[in-house]
Amino acid sequence: MKLVYRVTPRQRLIVVEHALEQMLAFAQRRWWNCEAGGILLGRHLLDSLDVVVDEVSTPQSTDRRGRFNFFRSSKHEQVARQRWMRENSTSAYLGLWHTHPEPDPSPSNVDRNDWQQAASGDTYEGDRLFFPIVGTDCIRIWTLSRRGTFKELKLEKKDGNQ
Ligand SMILES: [Zn+2]
Repeated sequence: MKLVYRVTPRQRLIVVEHALEQMLAFAQRRWWNCEAGGILLGRHLLDSLDVVVDEVSTPQSTDRRGRFNFFRSSKHEQVARQRWMRENSTSAYLGLWHTHPEPDPSPSNVDRNDWQQAASGDTYEGDRLFFPIVGTDCIRIWTLSRRGTFKELKLEKKDGNQ
């Protein structure tokens, strides 16, 4: 199964099954599960404005993880760089994901600040980054553009065929 989200009238974000499974494996369904997170890696399609999340980085031993917080270490950037080299420079940095110990997740102020820093300070293609939060019942995805436009993406379809 893959998830398809609407970004703009002309752009969609597609999260493939592999990336989805990688994130869902860290959903905080038990009280002892700590927050987890990483970065989104994928592609800007050539024949459309669509963006595909192929893979995510998962928690590294150097991260600091608590029940209600998560500090991503620089190891994630190394993982991204390794993938970028392996894929002949076609793999792109698309955003940041993390988990929340709540059924229907919403971003904290810390998250919003973290995302703002990423969208304005990180190096990436295109004009926006994507920020999924994995709750215990669902995943929600927000986007922040370079100009600071913030919104939640609408889930368009769950596609089981591909
Ligand atoms: Zn958070």
